[in-house]
Amino acid sequence: MAKWNFPPKGQMDGSSGIYLQNMTWKQVEERLERDDVIIVPVGSTEAHGPHAPLGEDTFLVARMAEMVAERVGCTVAQPIWYGSHPYHHIGMPGTVVVDDDVFKDYVRSVMAGLWNAGFRKQIILNGHGQEYVIPSAIHQFAKRFQVPGVFVNLNWYHAIPDRVKDREHGGPFETPFIHADEVETSFSLALFPELLEMKEAVDTKPYGFLEKQGEHVDKAGNVYQRPIAWYGHVGLPGADGGLRLPGRGSRQGDPSQGRKGF
Ligand SMILES: [Zn+2]
Repeated sequence: MAKWNFPPKGQMDGSSGIYLQNMTWKQVEERLERDDVIIVPVGSTEAHGPHAPLGEDTFLVARMAEMVAERVGCTVAQPIWYGSHPYHHIGMPGTVVVDDDVFKDYVRSVMAGLWNAGFRKQIILNGHGQEYVIPSAIHQFAKRFQVPGVFVNLNWYHAIPDRVKDREHGGPFETPFIHADEVETSFSLALFPELLEMKEAVDTKPYGFLEKQGEHVDKAGNVYQRPIAWYGHVGLPGADGGLRLPGRGSRQGDPSQGRKGF
């Protein structure tokens, strides 16, 4: 972590040559002569409790992409702000749910446009619980267009599973990775502390419907690699807090334990 400077300065409206949409076509052509890698941050607009912004998932991957691009010289696309959601998010206030098929078509279209612009290597950097649809979108892209290139879907927490686990499983955190929790809040405090209101953070106690289901079902990110992925079921673990607490937004676990410099 020491080689990175936290918190980073946001680049979304900057002219530093990070974002595709902030560059002229001439600047893009010059970029492509030396680097045709583009990172596409994909997040969501989703309730994250009273202490975190609705765009938390998106800001996480956008800031990560910006920091990588600053270091290696690749390009970042302005993020996809609205995402696909599992069944248990339906009706959660503050959450914008895009239909699965619409979302896949949209991602595929964005990829096609970026390929046409010259970006032959695309990293779809995901920060939201839509792991089950993005691979489908990139396979649809590959089957439909059959063009050369390298297209990758990376969910950031899959790259660093040991850094998002709780202490009991060898990670740095007190509580397991779920959603709008200690883990997500801590990463947000590292990347965009200016958008967090920690005095509003509250603790919750998630519950499930089956005894010992935690041994068999991953609750987020599949970082514990349990037999049943979090999206591989309907109705097992506790629903998001937002469903039980309309108007207060969703969070789980104990985001009040979120801290800088974990
Ligand atoms: Zn989130």
